[in-house]
Amino acid sequence: MSSTSRRTAIVTGAARGIGAAIARRLAADGFSVAVLDLDEAGCGPVVDAIESGGGRALAVGVDVTDAVGVEAAVARVAAELGAPTVLVNNAGILRDNLLFRMSAEDWDAVMAVHLRGAFLLSRVVQRHMVDHRWGRIVNLSSTSALGNRGQANYSAAKAGLQGFTKTLAIELGKFGVTANAIAPGFIETEMTAATAERAGVPFEEFKARAAARIPVGRPGRPEDVAHAVSFLASEGAGFVSGQVIYVAGGPRA
Ligand code: NAP
Repeated sequence: MSSTSRRTAIVTGAARGIGAAIARRLAADGFSVAVLDLDEAGCGPVVDAIESGGGRALAVGVDVTDAVGVEAAVARVAAELGAPTVLVNNAGILRDNLLFRMSAEDWDAVMAVHLRGAFLLSRVVQRHMVDHRWGRIVNLSSTSALGNRGQANYSAAKAGLQGFTKTLAIELGKFGVTANAIAPGFIETEMTAATAERAGVPFEEFKARAAARIPVGRPGRPEDVAHAVSFLASEGAGFVSGQVIYVAGGPRA
């Protein structure tokens, strides 16, 4: 039995897209994986895929912005799957608009899911990590943290997550816990498909335009991000902390 096969990971927003790929990858790496998302039934296909591959997984419905719900969700994971010592804060939403049209509600909603959500989950899960003197926290930032037209809320949240990550690395390092951020560029998911739809551009054309700007010449895939998470969650990555890894096919968005 490898050391990771005794460990439990939580991935938020894991019913689809990047989160689903991360959950599947961590399961393949030997982790038991709690698949968290707003709709518990929606996590079913990811759990089934993990279990049919011989892994262990649990579907948990929770809104990451709900402090009481987060506490209960993590307690359930600990009871049913084992104490979580890997946390991937991946749940996210977009509410894009130019600043002069952006509502305060859309500002608050984006801050709540990305920043409050990552804060609430990290605060609860770090107890298990500190108890075990071992932990891995990975937060999903974005190349939008560097600034992106129409995303004042999202870019602020994703830049905020980088500062949050570095602070967790400083506070938790002495307990064997690392904290890192991954900042993906353009990744092909329902999130980017919805952005194409809002822009009135067919998704295939939208992806081709993105690929033309990306040095490696293709859009990213959820598995590209999952591979980076796999590294950061591994035993051997214990001296890598407080970093932001851009998974963007090049140095910039
Ligand atoms: P996605 O396909 O939209 O998936 C996001 C998931 O998060 C959905 O299943 C969604 O559930 C869930 N979610 C939203 N709000 C939640 C909440 N309050 N509580 C629990 N779950 C919630 O997005 P993605 O493209 O895979 O992106 C995953 C992460 O990577 C996000 O943090 C995103 O900002 C980041 N990212 C993505 C890209 C990209 O190009 N795709 C680039 C950079 C960074 P519902 O479906 O029920 O809403």
